Amino acid sequence: MIAKIVQTQSQEQDRPFCAYLYDLTKLRNHVNSLMTTLPSSCRLFYAIKANSDVMILKALAPIVNGFEVASLGEIEKVRNIDRTIPILFGGPGKTHHEIEMAIEYGVTLLHVESLHEIKLVNYIAMQKKVSVSILLRVNLRHSVPSAKLKMAGVPTQFGIDETEIDMAISLIEGLPNLELQGFHFHAMSNNTDSKSHASFVDHCYELTKNWSSKWELDIKYVNVGGGIGINYLQLDKQFDWEDFTEQLEKVLEKHNDKSWNTLFECGRYITSSCGYYAAEVLDIKQNHGEYFCILRGGSHHLRLPAAWKQSHPFTVIPVEKWPYSFERPEVIDEKITVAGELCTPNDVLAREVIISKLRVGDILLFSYAGAYGWAISHHNFLSHPHPERIYLDRDSLIKQYGFVNEGMSFEAKT
Ligand SMILES: *Cc1c(COP(=O)(O)O)cnc(C)c1O
Repeated sequence: MIAKIVQTQSQEQDRPFCAYLYDLTKLRNHVNSLMTTLPSSCRLFYAIKANSDVMILKALAPIVNGFEVASLGEIEKVRNIDRTIPILFGGPGKTHHEIEMAIEYGVTLLHVESLHEIKLVNYIAMQKKVSVSILLRVNLRHSVPSAKLKMAGVPTQFGIDETEIDMAISLIEGLPNLELQGFHFHAMSNNTDSKSHASFVDHCYELTKNWSSKWELDIKYVNVGGGIGINYLQLDKQFDWEDFTEQLEKVLEKHNDKSWNTLFECGRYITSSCGYYAAEVLDIKQNHGEYFCILRGGSHHLRLPAAWKQSHPFTVIPVEKWPYSFERPEVIDEKITVAGELCTPNDVLAREVIISKLRVGDILLFSYAGAYGWAISHHNFLSHPHPERIYLDRDSLIKQYGFVNEGMSFEAKT
């Protein structure tokens, strides 16, 4: 269906096609099914840094338990679309002003990331004469080995070293305006293995149990973070959600004397599959014996494959239109590298992919582009026009040109 829409939309315009497409119906169905299959004591939050597009936030707000944010800007994005939805606020290096505003905006839980931050939050809470509910973010000594990026288990800037948590708790005991409600363990990104993810949750529970009984804490939440991954390299081998929820039931059963809520704050796993990036082939050439195609688009719109130095999955959408009298460049059954329009050799979206047929004017459709795609890209490098945004919502199509509040939209049409 997406391919069909890209085909029709591209026929309607003269300039080369370049767009992000978001299937909001698919997004709703996906997240509804996650919500209904999670054990009842679990809560699912969306980590908006994966994609904070307003249409996506609006589609998710009625479904998820809340949003996880990492800056005042993200808090405001959420509050602009929903005045009351629960917000979890984490991230290293929160400023005095950010903490004040987080309290003003009614953030539900603050994830505190250092001993200094504990004192700062308490100081601000005292001045405002309020009590602030916090989770301590733990930087674990051991992490999940199969994950792509590690925020814990190796030295990183996140959270409080596992070995200093006792010190942090004893510090909080003496601070009147903080209410310690549990621990936060976000420790990895892009884990595609359901079993190791479930045993990670188990580990989080074990640690929480130890601290809770040692310090007689009144724990409400165990936040196990996000980090559930997408297998970009083997699309048919995705994270086994069904197996994960089965394992998770067993883990929670094992700790069933605890009435704690398990919080998930997933980004990638929520929005990745609903997003597509489509870009037209502008040129095909052979250099040093290797084929390259050049797109109207590139890593300034979809930086993920360049950032991870891996090929992003795509399919070819054939477009029959060819307006010129001269020959149309094409390759048949060749290995080709997909490059963008930027003047840097790093602007590569896929490397040495075997292709049965590709012509200038065809469109490449990249799937799993809904998370960490546009959101992490350097949009204005080289000042090319931004892609269009097309939203599929039930049976309607909503088109927007350019991205709101950002310099370079080439057409301000809705
Ligand atoms: C980025 C982030 C998430 C979401 O991570 P995903 O890998 O996208 O699920 C959750 N929690 C924190 C603290 C984060 O920084």
